Amino acid sequence: MSTDSLSCMSKEVNPESVELCPLGTAAAPEQELLCIFGTGDLGRSLGQRLLQTGYRVVYGSRRPHSCGPLPQGAQVMSHAAAAQSASMVFICVHRVHYNFLEMLAPHLRGKVLVDVSNNLKKNLYQEANAEYLQRLVPGSHVVKGFNTLSAWTLQNGPSDANRQVYLCGNSAEAKQAVAEMATKLGFSVLDRGSLSAARELEDFPLQLFPEWRLPLKLAFGLTAFFFFYLLIRDVIYSYVEKKTDISFRIMVSLANKVFPIVSLIMLSLCYLPGIIAAVLQLYRGTKYRRFPDWLDRWMLCRKQLGLLALGFAFLHVLYTLIIPIRYYVRFKISASTISQIKENKTKEFDTTTAWRTDSYYAVGILGFGLYVLLGISSLPSVSNALSWREFNFIQSKLGYVTLFFCTFHTYLYGWDKFLRPSSYKWYTPSGYMLGLVVPSVVLVLKLLLLVPCVDRSLTRIRQGWERTQPDDDNKTTLLT
Ligand code: NAP
Repeated sequence: MSTDSLSCMSKEVNPESVELCPLGTAAAPEQELLCIFGTGDLGRSLGQRLLQTGYRVVYGSRRPHSCGPLPQGAQVMSHAAAAQSASMVFICVHRVHYNFLEMLAPHLRGKVLVDVSNNLKKNLYQEANAEYLQRLVPGSHVVKGFNTLSAWTLQNGPSDANRQVYLCGNSAEAKQAVAEMATKLGFSVLDRGSLSAARELEDFPLQLFPEWRLPLKLAFGLTAFFFFYLLIRDVIYSYVEKKTDISFRIMVSLANKVFPIVSLIMLSLCYLPGIIAAVLQLYRGTKYRRFPDWLDRWMLCRKQLGLLALGFAFLHVLYTLIIPIRYYVRFKISASTISQIKENKTKEFDTTTAWRTDSYYAVGILGFGLYVLLGISSLPSVSNALSWREFNFIQSKLGYVTLFFCTFHTYLYGWDKFLRPSSYKWYTPSGYMLGLVVPSVVLVLKLLLLVPCVDRSLTRIRQGWERTQPDDDNKTTLLT
């Protein structure tokens, strides 16, 4: 079927047709007529967009005389009459109702049928909706597409975030015709191949943040663990051992301990899989063997891990900024001042503490600044404007610098507290000590990978060098 034949249109006036209003511009002879089956949400939005782009639209409906309000300029007819008048038909009907199309098969012979349908669940049916449609109407050319757009998007027109239309189908000409029409509507088209890809396209809209699941679970697990750990060590310990109720500290002090710990661990977990991959490559002496699935999955969600880590860092910053206005803090400062006045004593200025706290804040601010830079550069609009080398420099090199600053910030916070026996309440280490384990391990391993001889071997492996030649492998296999 040629594209020309697809664009042909009938100008017959059908007795069954109901014209909603004078066709106006739609009467221009050069305008292509497209048919939409179904006058529901998607059908209406699609029709409106097509009319705005300059197409003429005819609806095929079960109730041409009593269907709801339709876009101005559209016609509405019975299914059979509408199908006859256009060469491309959008099936904007749910799959469960497709059986009526079987009866219309003679009217749909040679036409391009665009299947826009989605399902409520994955694997609801054995065959994809588009394949089912092709089986019901074997003489037509089914193209799957537009199902990843919502009625709302179609009505409002494509935006940057919602520009792509995925297509698949067995007829190249039919796909070409749909692609041209989608391009005229302002979408960019991605050809996903033959109709066997339809199930994949139908599963797209059913995805629920697949890359976020693992990072969210991790963030939730870490937050819950550290919250209860610190609750026991701080609040319950105080209540049991000192008979003091400091439960009010749960809201700010405890939260402001949990957030930075979770943020630091999650940031280091963005870099740990890269290090494990490097160690695996060094051990195997090749980059041509697949990583285990869990490592692949972990690598694929690094961006989400990083963004969640940034979110926790933001919370830490906000909670830290409100410290001076807290009642508890203001009370402690004034109580200390009054006791100094009463005792007629002035505390000595401690230069070491001044250095330590200033360094702690300065390093924290630098770390947070770089953290934000990492987050910004991971936004598609920014990362698309960077070369691969620039992106790699920010995410990898500056990423490790960020991790170093944030880890150092935590070491400065701890300072010499780890030497004091009072830090080990009920023989447990402080939360920040636990939080330092993973980032310290990551930084040490990264330093080891940067040792010149190790770095050289890794670079060679990544350039395709193999310790064991593939032939040697074959010989070993044959011998065993
Ligand atoms: P809808 O609002 O329920 O409309 C479906 C239309 O199908 C009805 O208005 C009706 O039109 C027709 N219909 C209903 N029962 C029928 C039957 N027994 N036989 C023949 N036709 C029947 O649904 P929708 O939201 O427009 O969705 C339509 C299709 O687009 C679905 O497959 C959906 O998965 C897909 N989709 C929808 C969206 C969205 O945002 N809504 C997004 C992507 C994909 P008539 O009364 O005129 O015959």
